[in-house]
Amino acid sequence: MIIEELNNILGKAPAFRMKQAYKSVFQDLITDWSENTTLPKETRADLKEACSLDISVEFADSKKSDALKALIELEDGAKVETVLLRHSDGRNTACISSQVGCSLGCKFCATGMLGMERNLTVGEMVAQVLVFARYLKEKKAKHQRITNIVFMGMGEPMMNYQAVMETIRLLNNTDVFGIGARHMSISTSGIIDGIEYLSNEPLQVNLAISLHAPNDVLRSQLMPINRKYGIKDLMNSVKHYREKCGRRVMFEYIMLDGINDAPEHARELAELMQDKLYMVNLIRYNPTGVFKPSKAEKIEQFKRILQRSGVHVTQRHAFGSDINAACGQLATKRNKKA
Ligand code: SF4
Repeated sequence: MIIEELNNILGKAPAFRMKQAYKSVFQDLITDWSENTTLPKETRADLKEACSLDISVEFADSKKSDALKALIELEDGAKVETVLLRHSDGRNTACISSQVGCSLGCKFCATGMLGMERNLTVGEMVAQVLVFARYLKEKKAKHQRITNIVFMGMGEPMMNYQAVMETIRLLNNTDVFGIGARHMSISTSGIIDGIEYLSNEPLQVNLAISLHAPNDVLRSQLMPINRKYGIKDLMNSVKHYREKCGRRVMFEYIMLDGINDAPEHARELAELMQDKLYMVNLIRYNPTGVFKPSKAEKIEQFKRILQRSGVHVTQRHAFGSDINAACGQLATKRNKKA
């Protein structure tokens, strides 16, 4: 992928050459090296030869909402999906994948059903942002900048920690996309070691926890990783992160009909959320065949119980249900057809 090939070719050149190449690729969004006007002719020829700017991508645009899904075919034929959420206030959030498939097998997740293929490289993660930047430019969108990044696509980012952090540093680099660290979030199913590493990072990246159940019995049924990292240890680790970094922590909670959406679940969740810097994000479930989404009244009731207990609650807009924008769904369909 582009980042790795640029490193191979320009890694030993003076630093300003890499800056020039980054500017062309990630800011001017060139798709052919002949469009570059700053690098020497011979360097352009080397890059044309050994650093392809082509990315094999198919887009699925949602008619119901401002979500755009991209399916990228990688150089080894593996496929990875990524989603762009276009908010009405002008923000563009890229929800990117960190692995092909996932080993953690959460029961509500189509990616989990695929199993684990491999970790993504830094270049493969940066390419997911690049395809959307190119798309917005090509469509002459009103708001063209990618402003926010969430590692919430396929895979568990903490299981590919070093590459994810290197990707974040690159996305933050003003010669690349210049996205502020505070506008980037890592969402984890609760890998405690990763939360610990993140709390020691100099970059102020946000932490989100995919919680989805308020007690160990239910969470272990839905998310097998909970058998290794139970809720008590997870909450202690989050508390430590919060104390060290002083940053808000978002807890994601997918609303599953008749599974985790009862009033007693809301009360249990409220007990876990007694910290002013914790927020709950209730997510309407895009069905993957196993569970059903909670009804709107149930979500409303759940939300009210949390709010009455003083918990800060948001409700994620149901982006892209018509394009299967929950993680792993497009890849699942293609694999079934193949
Ligand atoms: S929800 Fe996340 S951690 Fe769980 S299986 Fe899906 S991708 Fe993996």
